[in-house]
Amino acid sequence: MPIAAPRGTQDILPPESRRWQWLEECFRHHGALYGYREMRTPIFESTELFARGVGEETDIVAKQMYSFQSRGGDALTLRPEGTAGVVRAMIQHNLLAQGGVQKICYFGPMFRYERPQKGRYRQLHQVGVEAFGSPGPAIDAETLAFASDFLAAVGISDARLELNSVGCPACRPRYRDALRNALAGARTGLCTDCTRRYDTNPLRVLDCKVESCRTVTRDVPVILDMLCAECRDHLRGVEAGLRALGVPFVINPHIVRGLDYYTRTAFEFIAGGLGAQNTVLAGGRYDGLVAELGGPATPAIGFAAGIERLLMAAGEAAPAPPMAGPVFIATLGDAARAEGARLAQALRRAGVPAAISYEARSLKAQMKEAARQDARYALILGEDELARGDAMLRDMGAGEQTAVAVADIVTLLARRYAA
Ligand code: ATP
Ligand code: MG
Repeated sequence: MPIAAPRGTQDILPPESRRWQWLEECFRHHGALYGYREMRTPIFESTELFARGVGEETDIVAKQMYSFQSRGGDALTLRPEGTAGVVRAMIQHNLLAQGGVQKICYFGPMFRYERPQKGRYRQLHQVGVEAFGSPGPAIDAETLAFASDFLAAVGISDARLELNSVGCPACRPRYRDALRNALAGARTGLCTDCTRRYDTNPLRVLDCKVESCRTVTRDVPVILDMLCAECRDHLRGVEAGLRALGVPFVINPHIVRGLDYYTRTAFEFIAGGLGAQNTVLAGGRYDGLVAELGGPATPAIGFAAGIERLLMAAGEAAPAPPMAGPVFIATLGDAARAEGARLAQALRRAGVPAAISYEARSLKAQMKEAARQDARYALILGEDELARGDAMLRDMGAGEQTAVAVADIVTLLARRYAA
């Protein structure tokens, strides 16, 4: 039996891989527009980082981590998300001491042991951003504008921004109690996870996808009515900022990030047509996390988006092909084949994509190969032509061919490909 890739993983094959590159380019481009610089952190970290940085009570840490012991006996985990590693690196390299606002973006694979289904994988890929150092609502609005523009750029213009505030350590405990009280009578109607969450992290019940839990939470009190004055002002500031920047949103009090260091702004972008896995981008403010991980108290906000879901939602939004098709050099005879290899190299060094036939084959077979490679031109090099210093250049689209001097080919094609 041949070996297959593990369950919940995917091979990204060409030409689909081109769409991935395109999406990553769009993300990099938007990152640069908004002043983000890329950080690359390890794919595995100390298990403790995620236990503390994501939270023992989250599904991610409680049920989804790929944890293992290294040969040296260290407890390690394949990263399930990007924020914890970025924050660790900011602290470890003392980058927050510089003060001011620091904007970091990242992308790469994440690992979560989940039940694989459409839009849900065990190796998933995310793009994400984190902005450190600004407590006010202006940067929240800007971060959401970034997210919204990036989604539009990759062809997801119908995503709905759902916005909420999860309060702060001053007002959230009061809401948590009110929520527990409201849920107490309906506890038996909750799913197993939510029965546990009721004790450990009741806000997460609001986010449960199980229908019976949704019914139970339909009429519970909402946090927006219980925010402290500072959190209420912050939310108003974000809303005003979004209106000023032209970013549409709706308020959804069920959007939560149920951990203590998540503060105030929480949001998701929901795309149409993806079924249950319809959150393409999610994030929020986490003013308590840096201090929780041992760094200087630093406000921060960020988001992450799943590349697989973005590409599903982007649908047919097609990236431009990376380059025009190559010049395919078809040769007849050993001398011509050697000259063809030399010409191909000269073309590539001049920035023109070039392909050749490596073995002696019929002209017909080589022209078929040229078509298969989507060649823009075929350059036919035979013994007689070569003796005259000529070659035949065929425009594959127009079907026209002209004789060209071998000496002029590189200059001629470099000019055409640059146009
Ligand atoms: P969900 O509620 O769908 O499980 P989540 O709350 O676990 O999402 P986050 O941790 O906020 O998701 O991750 C941000 C984004 O990463 C999600 O909005 C989604 O686009 C993507 N994502 C999360 N888990 C997966 C997965 N297993 N497979 C593919 N994409 C994922
Ligand atoms: Mg999840």
